[in-house]
Amino acid sequence: MSVVADTRPLDLLADFPAIPTGWAYLDTAATAQKPRPVLDAIARGYGETYATVHRGVYQRSADMTLAFEASRTRVATFIGGKPEEIIFVRGATEGINLVAQCWAGTQLKAGDRILLSTLEHHSNIVPWQMVAERVGAAIDVIPLTADHRIDLDAMAAMITPAHKLVALAHVSNVLGSVLDAKRATEIAHSVGAKILLDGCQAVPRLPVDVAGIGCDFYVFSGHKLYGPTGIGVLWGRYDLLDAMPPWQGGGSMIDRVTFERTTYAPPPGRFEAGTPHIVGVVGLHAAVDYVAGIGLERIYAHETALVRAARDALTQVNSVRLFGPDDSAGIVSFAVEGVHPHDVATILDEGNVAIRAGHHCAQPLMDALGVSATARASFGVYNGAADIAALVKGIERVTRIFG
Ligand code: PMP
Repeated sequence: MSVVADTRPLDLLADFPAIPTGWAYLDTAATAQKPRPVLDAIARGYGETYATVHRGVYQRSADMTLAFEASRTRVATFIGGKPEEIIFVRGATEGINLVAQCWAGTQLKAGDRILLSTLEHHSNIVPWQMVAERVGAAIDVIPLTADHRIDLDAMAAMITPAHKLVALAHVSNVLGSVLDAKRATEIAHSVGAKILLDGCQAVPRLPVDVAGIGCDFYVFSGHKLYGPTGIGVLWGRYDLLDAMPPWQGGGSMIDRVTFERTTYAPPPGRFEAGTPHIVGVVGLHAAVDYVAGIGLERIYAHETALVRAARDALTQVNSVRLFGPDDSAGIVSFAVEGVHPHDVATILDEGNVAIRAGHHCAQPLMDALGVSATARASFGVYNGAADIAALVKGIERVTRIFG
């Protein structure tokens, strides 16, 4: 059977009630707007089926528990893991902190090294600095290639057996550069290091298969995947999770509690202390179904086409400098010569175009690019040619205003 790629353009604006006609929302890398199936799942979760999970013996609670665990299974299938390897956390930030404290904090010792890259989000830098300081480990930084990708040749040349952990963005939130995750994993494993991938910007934009990549930990946030805020996922290889101590102490994460000694539940429960974000988990299920229903290959093709169109159009404007590679996934960072990115964003907003300006929680990357901030347009399934046209019109207005 031959599979024919679905190349129909996406036309999904009608699914997103919070995007009014004529508003170009180009800040999906910060957070994605929510489609009706997610809004409906949240409304139903609180308004019709609500009860606690895991504890109640009554039917409503048993049903809610089934829905909660069905989401775990759905997320596992979505990224190629097993349900017992899926830990629900508040977001990518909490997932990385969990691995930093519970894995690195117990496995690393003085003299060990951690390998990061120049383009990491602060949430994939600071947790490692905190644990490195505590255990006496050091951090090394992989440089970027000339076209702003993580330089894997440099990674291969600089990694040593002292490196116990590598943590890299699968897709950069500033540049959209896509990591060759499989190759990065092979390089990390060649010296026995574990690798965590920050999939915040990858999971909404391209197919992800943790088993195929072969990585050890993978994190992402629900709100960037068209799901609710306050819910995210840490996936970890079961043998690694099983050997890790708990994250927080409290209800649900225990096996047996006495004042003399407490024993802990196996993963994933061990890492999910307290009443979870029940409706967030249910909403995440709806979000996964929504993007999977469109197809990640199709979303990737749609967003890379938008990036290409935006880059082509912005290249025509003399004073615009583009960052990142031409084949970026869904994200374009740029600067307008002589104009602060905040001014660019303010003028664009006057024309109903919402972009982000600032350091994007990546100050070391700004330093490497030699700028204090960039303007960033990032795309989602609801964007189309009209949004690119509005963006370009807005940039032309910026150049007119600033001469
Ligand atoms: N990593 C990357 C690449 C991101 O884009 C973000 C969010 N901007 C984060 C980590 C942190 O995600 P959250 O704030 O949802 O925990």
